[in-house]
Amino acid sequence: MKLLISSSIICAIAILLYCGSFSSIVTSLLEQYPLTAYNTSNSTAQGVLLKKSTSFFGLPLIPATFFASDRPANMTVPRAIKQAFLAIEQSEGAGARVRRSIGTPKLRNFSPFLMLDHFSVSPGAGFPDHPHRGQETITYILNGAVDHQDFAGNTGTIEKGDLQFMTAGRGIVHAEMPRQNSDGSANVGMQLWVDLPEKLKMCEPRYRDLRAKEIPTIQVDEGNVTIKIISGQSHGTDSVQELAYTPVWIFDITIKPGGKVTQPLPIGWNAFVYTLKGSTAFGVGKDQTTVGQYHNVVFEQKGDSVSAEVAKEAKEDGQFFLVAGLPLDQKVVQYGPFVLNSQDEVYQAMLDYQSHQNGFERAKGWESEIGKSMVH
Ligand code: FE
Repeated sequence: MKLLISSSIICAIAILLYCGSFSSIVTSLLEQYPLTAYNTSNSTAQGVLLKKSTSFFGLPLIPATFFASDRPANMTVPRAIKQAFLAIEQSEGAGARVRRSIGTPKLRNFSPFLMLDHFSVSPGAGFPDHPHRGQETITYILNGAVDHQDFAGNTGTIEKGDLQFMTAGRGIVHAEMPRQNSDGSANVGMQLWVDLPEKLKMCEPRYRDLRAKEIPTIQVDEGNVTIKIISGQSHGTDSVQELAYTPVWIFDITIKPGGKVTQPLPIGWNAFVYTLKGSTAFGVGKDQTTVGQYHNVVFEQKGDSVSAEVAKEAKEDGQFFLVAGLPLDQKVVQYGPFVLNSQDEVYQAMLDYQSHQNGFERAKGWESEIGKSMVH
């Protein structure tokens, strides 16, 4: 969901290039997924993971080393909060309001996460034809619906409670246009950008729509806590497995006043919470911090669970997303919707997009139907 790239961009890239360096302390957890699993000898597929499935080439969602579901929650080590901050609302184009938290000066270099937008788009606005290369986007609809159309002929709509997992790989051009609701109400949702492992950057693009009815929903703490297991494992229940290529766990959690929950997470993964409603206390003991609406809460890597509770006297439920992902020990070089590992690769992406090659062949002469209302 980003800007159209015009032909003048190439002249400006030297100035505008944004480089995010991941040289610091990101621990390489790819040991959980031995590199021998990649077919690096296949020059056409650039290191596609060897799997039986012919349509999914990502890494396993649940690491082989994750045994927390066999352990009582009180045996885990809760993670401390590293930082918590309000996601400030800004306008992005006509009719779109966005609360961006990841991908701002407050939170960069947070692999594998590149960007998190909480968006609200009014009728008449939207995100017409634009390209992507090298990342995955995960879109979750909270209210309304979003139509989708791409240059490969894929079309569809994700409704309230649905998600779309899009692996851009070597290239996609698409439009994402929120529905024109008859009552004029805005379309609201979350979009998370996730980096792709270097060896999967140039894979074929892939979509996986996850419908609300496919998402297991469980209740714990005697019904005080409801967990939608969008991706990952909670209290012994698994989500659909083959979603994003980079393993990401996503839970939509609602806690009633007086309720509490401890969610185990894979060791060493980066984790954050985005708060949607109410006030929720995260962490335990003296580290416990109560956080209000529309905040991003980043957790330390140390520890293997996240604890959350809502005070008995609270007037409303607390609702938040808990997200964790495998950090990728690789350099990130991003220019808008192109996310690669070097500046040369970004230049190549721009050239490929402009000259309709190396994955962008189908962009030649293509224009989406749904995006036409926004163009010109
Ligand atoms: Fe997009």
